[in-house]
Amino acid sequence: MSNSIQAIRGMNDQLPGDLICWQQLEKIAAEVFRLFGYQEIRLPVVEKTELFARSIGQATDIVEKEMYSFQDRNGDQLSLRPEGTAGVVRAMLQHGLLHNAIQRVWYTGPMFRHERPQKGRYRQFHQIGVEAFGMTEAELDVEIISMTCQLWKQLGLTSTVLEINTLGASDSRLAYRSALVEYYQANRNSLDEDSLRRLEKNPLRILDSKNEAVIELNKNAPDILEYLDDESSQHFQHVKELLDNLGIPYVRNPKLVRGLDYYSRTVFEWTTDKLGAQSAICGGGRYDELVEKLGGKKRVPAAGFAIGMERLIELMKIEQLCQPEKRQDFYIVQTPGAARETGLSLAMQIRDAGYSVTANVGDTSFKSQLKKADRCNVRMALIIGENELETSSITVKQLDDGEQFSLSSENFVAEVNKYLTTKE
Ligand code: AMP
Repeated sequence: MSNSIQAIRGMNDQLPGDLICWQQLEKIAAEVFRLFGYQEIRLPVVEKTELFARSIGQATDIVEKEMYSFQDRNGDQLSLRPEGTAGVVRAMLQHGLLHNAIQRVWYTGPMFRHERPQKGRYRQFHQIGVEAFGMTEAELDVEIISMTCQLWKQLGLTSTVLEINTLGASDSRLAYRSALVEYYQANRNSLDEDSLRRLEKNPLRILDSKNEAVIELNKNAPDILEYLDDESSQHFQHVKELLDNLGIPYVRNPKLVRGLDYYSRTVFEWTTDKLGAQSAICGGGRYDELVEKLGGKKRVPAAGFAIGMERLIELMKIEQLCQPEKRQDFYIVQTPGAARETGLSLAMQIRDAGYSVTANVGDTSFKSQLKKADRCNVRMALIIGENELETSSITVKQLDDGEQFSLSSENFVAEVNKYLTTKE
């Protein structure tokens, strides 16, 4: 063991037992996205580093400290994607999909950030998210928020809380930034090292500091609402009205700024009190300026969100929403020799009829084969021994209660079908 190679810290294996809940989530999410008219998009895991520097922002934690970046053999500077939005915008532009067109897409896959691993925070983690392009109206912001609502509803989640805020358009954000810098400069003594660093580069991020003294200071910090341009103010008002109309409860969190620079106007986050420190399960918002920033000839308004799948799965487990694994239908137990051939062809017929079947491999005793069947979480063992071969029959043994009966091997599929349908 000591010599064996281990996985990289913060990058987890997803073992078969864990994946049942993941598959449920993926299936339900794909269906919810389809119901809203979103199509799937699949993109590379590696992109040019510059893509993330220009979109997420040079001065963000992600780009400054957390990206897995490297030079490939051609000397190109590349990074493993830390999030999905930048790649989607790159692909939209590259393939000319934004010319006078509305696009609604969803994606899922692994993301990579070199953060300090802990419960709910990993270096390879998975997101499932959506991006929509070409719509300035508040209806789009509410459309994507209602998609998350619909997903929580379909999953059966009850402990999620929606927080919203606005960051205004770029001019109002600049004015707000200056006001914040002035406020923090005047209170430098209360700032920790991290906040002092952010003061130079990204003062808005001081608002979501976890430092006690800074949290206290933030209570009296200027509020973006005082610096909003009229249009952004109306936009935010409209978003809130539409949420009210749909009966989607929310709280405004004036400290919600998100860790990525590309957001403008509406930002939101879904949190829960059931996951401890890593309480955010989904983050998103509007990013009207990003397409142009990444080389688009025109401004294309857009909005999206990303859900942290590890955290959502953990929450599903806590709220006991993961369905148990579906049991395998049959396990074929057989004597060596001719029974094996019968077993193999029977297995194929059963699978053709849509039932799942595991055929025993190897010459072991009936007892040990039945034990294996038990361990595989199977409903019924199909026994083919000397007797059965002679009488052209199959013995069916219910593994729950040990009940046993015989069916003809010739009409097996039809007979077992009849038996199972009357039982259900
Ligand atoms: P972000 O892309 O930072 O807006 O994150 C969106 C969501 O992804 C968060 O709300 C988390 O649920 C999840 N997430 C972000 N970073 C990590 C991480 N290192 N490990 C696990 N989940 C993460």
